[in-house]
Amino acid sequence: MLFQIAPCPRELPVRETSFNVVPQYYNGVRDFHYQPYDYHASSSLESCSCSSGSDSSRTSFRGPWCICIVVCVVVATLAAGLGLPLAFNPQPQLQTPEERLEVVRKLLKDTPLIDGHNDLPWNLRKFVHNKLFKLNLSAISQQEPWSKSLWSHTDIPRLRAGLIGAQFWSAYVPCKAQHLDAVQITLEQIDVIKRLVEYNSEHFALVRSTDELKQIHKAGRIASLIGVEGGHALGNSLAVLRTFYNLGARYLTITHNCDTPWATGTSTQKQDGLSAFGQSVIKEMNRLGMIIDLSHTSMNTAKAALNVTHAPVIFSHSSAFSLCNSSRNVPDDILKLIAHNGGVVMVNFYTLHVTCNGTATVQDVINHINHIRTVAGIDHVGIGAGYDGINMTPSGLEDVSRYPHLLAELLADPSWTEKDIVSLAGLNLLRVFEKVEEVRDKWKLADILPVEDSAPPLHNPCSSIYS
Ligand SMILES: [Zn+2]
Repeated sequence: MLFQIAPCPRELPVRETSFNVVPQYYNGVRDFHYQPYDYHASSSLESCSCSSGSDSSRTSFRGPWCICIVVCVVVATLAAGLGLPLAFNPQPQLQTPEERLEVVRKLLKDTPLIDGHNDLPWNLRKFVHNKLFKLNLSAISQQEPWSKSLWSHTDIPRLRAGLIGAQFWSAYVPCKAQHLDAVQITLEQIDVIKRLVEYNSEHFALVRSTDELKQIHKAGRIASLIGVEGGHALGNSLAVLRTFYNLGARYLTITHNCDTPWATGTSTQKQDGLSAFGQSVIKEMNRLGMIIDLSHTSMNTAKAALNVTHAPVIFSHSSAFSLCNSSRNVPDDILKLIAHNGGVVMVNFYTLHVTCNGTATVQDVINHINHIRTVAGIDHVGIGAGYDGINMTPSGLEDVSRYPHLLAELLADPSWTEKDIVSLAGLNLLRVFEKVEEVRDKWKLADILPVEDSAPPLHNPCSSIYS
């Protein structure tokens, strides 16, 4: 299905040297035009429809009716014989979990399954100090400390079993590094992601655009993207933001749990959202073509960012606050704003974000997906499990091999169509990413210049006079 783009003049701000922010919203999902590749042309389970209109002009009236009656009798006899309650089951061919899994496998060949957040790079730092030369990512599940760690859920065989098409690898830096060596640690994490991809190029390829993502998925490798986690990684510098982008980072999580001097995080005691410099960060990300990630931000920061951005945003690994009142989850009023913005909330699997306690099931995760679908719409929900950054996972979703089982379980619900499944799995995130690229391209055409605003000086004893 194609949605036509309504021209949106607000996407093109006039050239400006200082940004006076005017709230910008898109007109909901119909403003977005995503042309899925290799999908929707046909489907193995698409229901067969008999058109009688054109046939009637070519055949006699009696012929088709006779055929129909015969077919009905045969089908009814078979159904009665097999005990299939056809009248109550719109997808009688999807009776077993294995049949549903087979459908999921077919769907994920054409549509990349995209996960919004994986913390394997931080485990590489913790466990092997970023020394990758001797690491066999195909065998770590049998090696300590990986095999014994509750924080380890990712390796190549399980990624392949999980049919992952694209993964945002997190270049995470802890809040404790803020105003110290946060920029250096982030650079090192970007470096380790790139080397990980390079050393395993048979399976991974670094991608920087939606076109590259689709090409790599078609080629059968896992498209690997870099997401920088925590605005404190910028060291209060837009030059550092631009450098991260040039190194391949395609989203920035605006804060981790801590406040930065320009944005508040989930642990904040303040009422502030974004400062003037924080608004400049959002604008510069729009100009660069970098996805704005609001997981971990305070809700005031999320609202302020949604007011400033000209492009859709994501929550790369957050669930629904209505079902579990963790400050990391997204309340309904923000879910509605996300629908208006055209963004995506990618559901997190950490049990403390799913059930607010140490245990959860696949059904609990499905409840979050369904809640976001109900409040924001099917076009605004995705998957951001957070594997390798969590130490408690739902039963049935123990590691990265389990995504197909989640999708197959959703298919057991007659209200979930194949189109819904591929929207959740990857098309929604691709749509956001494409729109972010589109805004970048339009701003480039409009000759919007880089933002040169500076953050107020911190008078940090660790800084030189040149900071
Ligand atoms: Zn996180």
